[in-house]
Amino acid sequence: MTEEVVRETGGTRASLQLLYEISREFAQALDLRTVLQRVLFLSLKTVKGESGSIIVLDEDGELRDSAIIHAGNMMDRNTQQLKMALQQGLMGWVVENREATLVSDTSRDRRWLRGKYDDPDTGARSSVSAPLLVRDRLVGIMTLSHPQSGFFTDNHLELVQTIAGQAAIFVLNASLYDESQQRTRVMTALANSAASINASLNVDDVLQSILEQIVEALEVDAVSLALVDEEAGELEFKAATGSGRDSILGLRIKMGQGVAGWVAQNEEAIIVPDVQKDPRFYNKVDRQTGFLTRAIACVPIRSQDKVIGVIEALNPTGKGFGPDALVVMDGIGHLAGSAIDHARLFEQVEVARSRYLELFEDNVDPILVTVADGKVVESNRSAQRMSGFLEAELKTMNVHQLHAVDWEVLGQNYDNLAGQHPLSYESSLQTKDGGSIDIEVYVRRVNIADTDHFQWILHDITERKRFDKLREDLASMIYHDLRSPLANVVSGLDVLQSMLEKEDPTVQSVIDIAIRSTERVQRLSNSLLDTMRMQSGENLGNPEPVTVEEIVRDAVEAALPGANNKEQQIKVALSASLPSIMVDADMIKRALINLLENSVKYTDKEGVITVGAKRKGGWLHIFVRDTGRGIPPDKIDTIFDKFTRVREGAAGSTAGLGLGLAFCKLAVEGHGGKIWVESEFGKGSTFTFSVPVAS
Ligand code: ADP
Repeated sequence: MTEEVVRETGGTRASLQLLYEISREFAQALDLRTVLQRVLFLSLKTVKGESGSIIVLDEDGELRDSAIIHAGNMMDRNTQQLKMALQQGLMGWVVENREATLVSDTSRDRRWLRGKYDDPDTGARSSVSAPLLVRDRLVGIMTLSHPQSGFFTDNHLELVQTIAGQAAIFVLNASLYDESQQRTRVMTALANSAASINASLNVDDVLQSILEQIVEALEVDAVSLALVDEEAGELEFKAATGSGRDSILGLRIKMGQGVAGWVAQNEEAIIVPDVQKDPRFYNKVDRQTGFLTRAIACVPIRSQDKVIGVIEALNPTGKGFGPDALVVMDGIGHLAGSAIDHARLFEQVEVARSRYLELFEDNVDPILVTVADGKVVESNRSAQRMSGFLEAELKTMNVHQLHAVDWEVLGQNYDNLAGQHPLSYESSLQTKDGGSIDIEVYVRRVNIADTDHFQWILHDITERKRFDKLREDLASMIYHDLRSPLANVVSGLDVLQSMLEKEDPTVQSVIDIAIRSTERVQRLSNSLLDTMRMQSGENLGNPEPVTVEEIVRDAVEAALPGANNKEQQIKVALSASLPSIMVDADMIKRALINLLENSVKYTDKEGVITVGAKRKGGWLHIFVRDTGRGIPPDKIDTIFDKFTRVREGAAGSTAGLGLGLAFCKLAVEGHGGKIWVESEFGKGSTFTFSVPVAS
């Protein structure tokens, strides 16, 4: 722009030319700093001013940005001074009156405040100032000055007004753009932080990542993070970056102490631009760490409305904390709260999981976990060892490929597996090398990740099976080998008795005892043999019609000597018209003798034992009642199981194996009947069994 143009400023052509130039210049920049700079340079050039300033105001009339040019150079902004000028000085006047004004001699105008670059001798003597208005909104103020008093004229004023009017819209645009850029920066910082903070579930990693995000977003020298220890009423530093890192970790401060303690206690974010001037600053930490803190921004970490810690950002590099520092930190503080929560929860779950894993892995029994269709999803070391399959191989298999599943026990669709209660059955494990191992399988329903899974414990019962087999082989061998010699003894004793008929009664009774004892051994070995055979599924016996009188008479005769020894009475209660029964007489007799002998055994001296029978439709119920010690209610259900004996004090213990009732049950059930007991503990018992009536 030439000098003529300036002189002709009143002219329309000149104004138009200027406006055109201004628009072209300004429209090329969107960055606020650049726009301000250009507006100032162009204005100074046009009006031949020496220095100038533009301040930018936000919507609330607060100082948002500024630019100062002095002797052709951009100066440092002095926010404090500009703020003051805004309130009282020439600019204050323009803000209030919203019109341009001319100061021909600054020393005579009370509105003029001397600025940093405004030397009383060489500084500004005259100035023009104009508002930057877009419709009703005051966007900023431009002031130009010159060291010569009276330099500016009304023409200059008009020119500055024109430029300000034109510049206003560009400044507003740039300022809005700047604001949105800043918002985008905050959003991006938060989004990045969220992504990296949530990338890990390990508490330490999460904390470290929070700090790194802040260092990056705010450009600070150091960041530290402390968590609240509620019990101790303290904050403990858990993570830190920067040179003091190692000495700050583990450091504890009281709630309310220092800036961090203040924030934790007051649950409020703060920026302390100069810690030396803030009484809340606690320099002991600096003394310990050797770090020199200048400025702090500190925000609380919240989790479910509770402050669980604080984050401190120290010493921003460059100009100090920007206006978005607290926004970014607060945002990260919120993220941190939930991330720490998640990480802590996850850690707890992990501990529980690894504890379970240890139990699972170290269990001596093989364990498989399957989904409902039987597909194996987990196996422990023991399962791999016993089956010979690798973990990966097992994961491709179905549990039924490893053993025959007993669906009768489990029920179709595992219907019998109610709740957490396990069910069990015997089976055999098919190993990789083609072998098989006897197992007892315990199946349990377990809930993993909200879906039904099934846990299969495969307990190796090879040893037990081997012992069972050995015992049974041994027993049956003994009984077989006992039978014929015993029969010989009995017939020998019979012969002896008939030969000694008229002899000495003492000898007679000795032979009686020998015969009875031998018969007892015979009955016992027969019953054991029967028990074993019936248990292995053999159908025994040789049913034929027999009268109940005969059975009862023979049984009582066998039990009587024992009863006599204890001065007990055996009463027989049979009504006259009882039908015959269809049974293997020898076996049922032995069962009845068993019941009678039990009654004798478990009834005190002089007790009464009653044996009788009643018809019930197609069945005859035979019972043995005694006045003995009875059976405890909790034992009633198991008393007919093999080897079940009611435990008693050593003093009252009675010899027995717990096999008698098991035999009775098998014998009766072998005839299609049932056996049961009714008992009042301490008063006596009644054992009853049913056998079919002969048609
Ligand atoms: P055991 O050889 O022990 O007698 P059993 O199978 O005949 O074996 O009996 C099992 C258990 O039942 C006995 O140990 C005893 O505790 C109990 N019992 C059997 N009969 C009677 C009875 N009449 N009175 C009280 N308890 C009995």
